[in-house]
Amino acid sequence: MNQHFEATESFAESMDEKDTIAVYKNEFYFPQHNGNNTIYFCGNSLGLQPKNVEAAIKTELGTWRDIAIEGYFKGTNPWLHYHEYVTPSLAKLTGAKPGEVTVMNTLTVNLHLMMLSFYKPNTKRYKIMMEAGAFPSDQYAIETQVKHYGLLPEDAIIEIAPRTGEKIIREEDILAAINEQRDTLALVVFGGINYYTGQLFDIKSITEAVHKAGAVAGWDLAHVTGNVPLQLHDWNVDFAVWCSYKYLNAGPGAIGGVFIHERYAFNNDTPRLAGWWGNDEKTRFKMEKGFIAKPDASGWNISTSQVFNTVALKASLELFDSAGMDNLRAKSVLLTGYLEFLLQQLTTLQFEIITPKEPERRGAQLCLYFSEKGKEVHQKMMDSGIIVDYREPGVIRVAPAPLYCSFEDVFRFYEILSEL
Ligand SMILES: *Cc1c(COP(=O)(O)O)cnc(C)c1O
Repeated sequence: MNQHFEATESFAESMDEKDTIAVYKNEFYFPQHNGNNTIYFCGNSLGLQPKNVEAAIKTELGTWRDIAIEGYFKGTNPWLHYHEYVTPSLAKLTGAKPGEVTVMNTLTVNLHLMMLSFYKPNTKRYKIMMEAGAFPSDQYAIETQVKHYGLLPEDAIIEIAPRTGEKIIREEDILAAINEQRDTLALVVFGGINYYTGQLFDIKSITEAVHKAGAVAGWDLAHVTGNVPLQLHDWNVDFAVWCSYKYLNAGPGAIGGVFIHERYAFNNDTPRLAGWWGNDEKTRFKMEKGFIAKPDASGWNISTSQVFNTVALKASLELFDSAGMDNLRAKSVLLTGYLEFLLQQLTTLQFEIITPKEPERRGAQLCLYFSEKGKEVHQKMMDSGIIVDYREPGVIRVAPAPLYCSFEDVFRFYEILSEL
């Protein structure tokens, strides 16, 4: 499908008028610049604050103030089950069955916990495959996991990199490497969307290849959940982890999400490190010996429900439920496509869009590499009230999140760029 775009403000306005989910922009607070709302393209790093969060936090503060310990059973939202209030919406966003999703801890901690369940190196099968240039926390997690088993990272970790002179990893190279390592591969962990380049991997076909090779497929969906719709159950993904403060707008350090396929989640014998909150509720408060796992993903919960780390997620997910992930994605494809179209009109600036061109190979984010003036462009944006992020050398990541960014926002970005 070739979408018709025009590089005019009136065209951007007409797109906003047609946008059936444009109203959700009003549900967010924007950082201020000279008394005006900024244009915010950093939702891939920290999503904006939904306006309904404050009241939601006050509700729980009130419960704590007024009834304290009884809040676990008698609050407006009894805390005993607080983590369960967000799982139906998360299951919808990730294409999970009820019971395959839970929230707990934060992303990297959950990656470690999942690896303790799913990475079982033996003398033959012990290798972990990941993308080169993965998010540093994932690199550290995987490096220290293999060391934990007395293995050498340079032997046990296989990184798949773009070919020389290229910036994007070829799917065919990933599939070939998986097949090549089929006798030694224990686990494959990729970021569903690479945080830097914005490349979205084909989760379904990579997972399939991993299984064919007799290994386990785990995904870090930090940049995917709330950005691109997922079908984790149908794609047979073994496990996935994500954070909630990027596209999910749940605030800094918010609780992390976990998907565990039912073939493990509903099986009490799947190995794990446990705590009381993952224990069967019928016996949890008997305080007896012998862990009995809850028969779903919440059987991996270790500690008591993290109410104040979950409350903003609960509020934010109401917006996702009401806007609908398919509508968000449809708008996002247009919005990012429009951004790309406008950027292509800028013939005087020296830059390259690293992110893949095909909508099915990317989410909201475009990664722009400026061979010169990168820092200058970034400064100009910040001075003009447009928040984007900058990484050396010369990379600007622009992520128009469809919940709170408009076509006019994207046009304004282009307008300022064209002044340079
Ligand atoms: C944001 C991000 C993280 C951050 O992990 P935390 O444990 O939440 O700090 C990890 N991995 C990837 C791929 C990310 O994008």
